[in-house]
Amino acid sequence: MADIIQLLPDHVANQIAAGEVVQRPASVVKELLENAIDAKATEITLFIKDAGKTLIQVTDNGVGMSTTDARLSFERHATSKIKSADDLFNLHTKGFRGEALASIAAIAHVELKTKTADEEIGTKICIEGSEVTLQEPTVAPTGTTISVKNLFYNIPARRNFLKSNTVETRHIIDEFHRVAMAHPSVAFKMMHNDTDVFNLPESNVRQRIVGIFGNKTNEKLVPVEEETEILKVNGFVLKPQFAKKGRGEQFFFVNNRFIKSSYLHHAVRSAFEGLIKDGTHPGYFLFLEVAPQSIDINIHPTKTEIKFDDEHAIYAMLRATIKHSLGQFSIAPVLDFNKDSGFDTPYEYSKRPPVAPTIEVDKNFNPFQKEANQRGYVQTAYKRERPSSWESLYIGLKAEGLETPSEVENIEFESEEVTGRLFDATNTNTTDKTTFQLQNKYIVCPIKSGMMVVHQHLAHQRIMYEELLKNMTVQEAVSQQLLFPLQFHFSTTDMEVLEKIKEQLEHTGFVFSAFHDTSIEVSGIPVVVSESQAGHILEQLIDDIKEEVPDAGFSQNDLLAKSMAKSMAVKSGTALNTEAQEHLINQLFACKEPSVSPDNRPVLITLDANDFDKKFS
Ligand code: ADP
Ligand code: MG
Repeated sequence: MADIIQLLPDHVANQIAAGEVVQRPASVVKELLENAIDAKATEITLFIKDAGKTLIQVTDNGVGMSTTDARLSFERHATSKIKSADDLFNLHTKGFRGEALASIAAIAHVELKTKTADEEIGTKICIEGSEVTLQEPTVAPTGTTISVKNLFYNIPARRNFLKSNTVETRHIIDEFHRVAMAHPSVAFKMMHNDTDVFNLPESNVRQRIVGIFGNKTNEKLVPVEEETEILKVNGFVLKPQFAKKGRGEQFFFVNNRFIKSSYLHHAVRSAFEGLIKDGTHPGYFLFLEVAPQSIDINIHPTKTEIKFDDEHAIYAMLRATIKHSLGQFSIAPVLDFNKDSGFDTPYEYSKRPPVAPTIEVDKNFNPFQKEANQRGYVQTAYKRERPSSWESLYIGLKAEGLETPSEVENIEFESEEVTGRLFDATNTNTTDKTTFQLQNKYIVCPIKSGMMVVHQHLAHQRIMYEELLKNMTVQEAVSQQLLFPLQFHFSTTDMEVLEKIKEQLEHTGFVFSAFHDTSIEVSGIPVVVSESQAGHILEQLIDDIKEEVPDAGFSQNDLLAKSMAKSMAVKSGTALNTEAQEHLINQLFACKEPSVSPDNRPVLITLDANDFDKKFS
């Protein structure tokens, strides 16, 4: 048999390897920004067009390259950063593999302009699909500008795989944040299609965080600082009341390199134990320094994960350090308490200066209240003659509306078995619909076949969801005008998200009187929303949208309605009086799909009197 093994031509090998390094425009941004940092730049400008799909350009005032280096920089494994394998264990640079430029040049049109300080004339190189198409001397300032155009122009499958501009831009901004945050002493600018997105002057860590995430962030920060033999930590955590349900601002940098670590996240989370609600996550910006020999980051070119030699010790130390910082913080009086925020975490309550308890809180702790309620229920059981709206609806619905086979079965069974049952006599005598609340969480009501238990929070979600969705499609929500407009601060990323959903939000009843760079003014809110809820709803919404990464706009309304419904719905643990309970049930059964929550969780269960009978036999 003839020999069949061939060496792949370089440009093919480069293209294949490029797939590993460059997944999307944001990967290019990361590599170029890191190269600029490695080149000791003090000013870096990122300019992108069409979410980086058309152009990604990074200009730096770093050391630049000689003509030979400029040409060599595009060769695979060409790096100035390590000379031997030993250097790998003492890395102080971002790059070291010498792959990025070669990879990028294999899948884009690249133009490089560079000049070192001691040269008069710089070098310009154009390269397309690994082929140098031009190399000439050029006039240029000291430093380097690399323009990457038409990414994936020669790999259509990859190009088509790219997400919407919103999503790709968000990835780019994420990378930009990470690099900019790790290097506050470097000035950064970012422009997108000629609009300024960021202009971050040289500063310190705190100012940099505020520069990126908005002025309001400043008062949320709790400093963290600790130095031991194996670990140095500094940075900030966000005060517990700013913990979020979704992925919020969570940044770990190890030796100034952004990393993800669920292990370390867990350490931070556990330091917040008891201070934040279950299911929420604290925000943090933490800079860890360890001996370069004690970590392994050489796992994958684009991996942001890391291995520590001494994981357990680092976990314990991090946890203790943050606990300590939080402890110090909570001793200090909370003067800058954020009155705007609608967070009702137990922590926040514990930090509030004593005020008259609200009715809800009162009810929760009043043992007589429940008794009174229940007695009321027993008494009225024989008095009330109101024709039921919801039960007839409920039963009617079952005959026609519900989709899943099991429910349909249930219904038929129920309507057949109604007569002559234990509860039937009582019901026909009284048509009583009185409900009661169980554990401030469930609403229990008798129905013909037995009883129904409704999850109040999920039920209300369903109600709000359908209402919001209707408003968004019909576009005629009612809003309440506020006497004093509310102001909310957001990061620029969040502002971008808000811009995108502004119109839909207006259909729900929000009225925006101003959109600034990192803040908005709200002069009207949906009637169903309280002033104190508004900020929380918007934040939660932005988080949900960021997490969901909607590609096309088509499910946007749905997502919006779901997220808002969740924030707005009455929480488990809220005491509801009988009137409120009945109102909720009535509203629920006016919904198109009363039996499931927007997230497809069951809203109610029915218990058949037959089953009670069995239990008592
Ligand atoms: P790595 O960063 O892993 O060394 P790259 O492919 O990213 O590999 O870059 C190759 C080489 O090109 C670098 O080692 C560096 O010497 C040079 N280089 C790249 N970008 C710049 C820049 N902005 N300024 C100066 N030199 C650069
Ligand atoms: Mg590099």
